[in-house]
Amino acid sequence: MESAKQIWETALGELQIQVSKANYTTWLKNSQGISYQENVFVVGVPSAFVAEWLTKSLHSLVSKTLAQIIGGDVDVQFTVHNQNQLTNGSLAYANQPDGGISTKAKIDRFNPKYTFANFIVGDCNRLAYAATIEVAENPGHSYNPLFIYSSTGQGKTHLLHAIGHRAISNGLKVAYTSAEQFTNEFVLAIKQGQVEDFRARLRTVHIFLFDDIQFISDKKQTQQCFLQTFNDLYNNNRQIIITADRPPKDMALLSNKLKSRLEWGLVTPIQPPDFESRLSILRAKAKETMITITDEVLQLLAKQIRENVRQLEGALIYLTARTKLTGMELTLQTVNKLLTSTADKQGSEVIMQVVADYFNLTVEELTGKRRDRKTALARQIVMYLMREEDNCSFAEIGKGLGNRNHATIVHGYEKIAAEMSVNSKLYHQILGIKGKIDLSKASREKY
Ligand code: ADP
Ligand code: MG
Repeated sequence: MESAKQIWETALGELQIQVSKANYTTWLKNSQGISYQENVFVVGVPSAFVAEWLTKSLHSLVSKTLAQIIGGDVDVQFTVHNQNQLTNGSLAYANQPDGGISTKAKIDRFNPKYTFANFIVGDCNRLAYAATIEVAENPGHSYNPLFIYSSTGQGKTHLLHAIGHRAISNGLKVAYTSAEQFTNEFVLAIKQGQVEDFRARLRTVHIFLFDDIQFISDKKQTQQCFLQTFNDLYNNNRQIIITADRPPKDMALLSNKLKSRLEWGLVTPIQPPDFESRLSILRAKAKETMITITDEVLQLLAKQIRENVRQLEGALIYLTARTKLTGMELTLQTVNKLLTSTADKQGSEVIMQVVADYFNLTVEELTGKRRDRKTALARQIVMYLMREEDNCSFAEIGKGLGNRNHATIVHGYEKIAAEMSVNSKLYHQILGIKGKIDLSKASREKY
């Protein structure tokens, strides 16, 4: 019989795939298997609040997961189990090796691919790039705060991580957090009566990276805490860098006080890449992925895929997968053919066709009754994409997928959304599928 500790480690591995990254880090990461006796499995967590939250929100998922591992019904109980190392917060901190709160796992949270060296500079992002280098090298001395905004997929997170890497190599202490993660940790700190500690920890960094601030625009208390943190840091000459999907003045729900603070330094956009930038990005990424593709084809792609860098990456991933699978060469002709194969279809139809092709299924099988793993996954990806890419309502998705009920669709959508952030294989699959969808869309526009 495996020990409770081992069983729980296995369960955590499963759960990591099933819940969002932010929830995993906040609620599950610092837990451990305590005991397993007479069908009762006891999980130790750092505070009563965490125990309460898990009981309320994840009890059935955790029971199911454990039942699968153990192979029988289990009753799960969450209990407070204090242990020094469990009380550390989990924002990504990093500093010089001899610093107090740095751990290897936390340093690893900066994506090794997101460096300044890997960032392609063009007219669309030149100012944002120059400003981030400046603040990484001279934190607190030039623009403070630095505020970068753009639509999705234009490299904001990439630049924040690049600052993180640079700061570490300069021996500085840096914290990165998404606004969502910040909110979770703040709520937890309130319940544990540790708001002061939470703020005090943030005060010690040289550089504070705050991603996607729009997420807290409707959260009053979190905003208040952020504002205090901002003031603490600012008054100590610490560098603050913030990203968002729009400039401060357009964030209707953000308090005026905070809005004005955000405008104190430099506010700079990243524009969608122009043709030249798209082409350089494609050339660089093709080289990186070692895909054999002519410049002619890259130009065709750069002409057709216009919105953002994530789409360009998606198209390349799709083409790479396709060549591996079929051994086909990526000539102008074959790529053109791929582009036009779904050209006569609209939105959701394209999504279904592309996902079906990707999984070697037919559209009928997707909308039909098959329940094997592959078909079920493909179907859930369709649910996710119809919502994300085509703005369909859950009802419309249900109808399109052979009259499936509302709860099934909501579950499928949420599962994929949550899993994508922790499961890099799935993330890449979907990126590839999106790439193909974008190619199809692009081919319908005349250029
Ligand atoms: P955002 O945070 O703005 O939504 P990301 O930083 O997540 O966008 O970027 C999406 C993807 O595109 C990432 O894989 C990133 O590395 C890549 N990317 C974006 N802009 C560039 C660029 N200028 N050069 C190289 N890669 C880029
Ligand atoms: Mg981002």
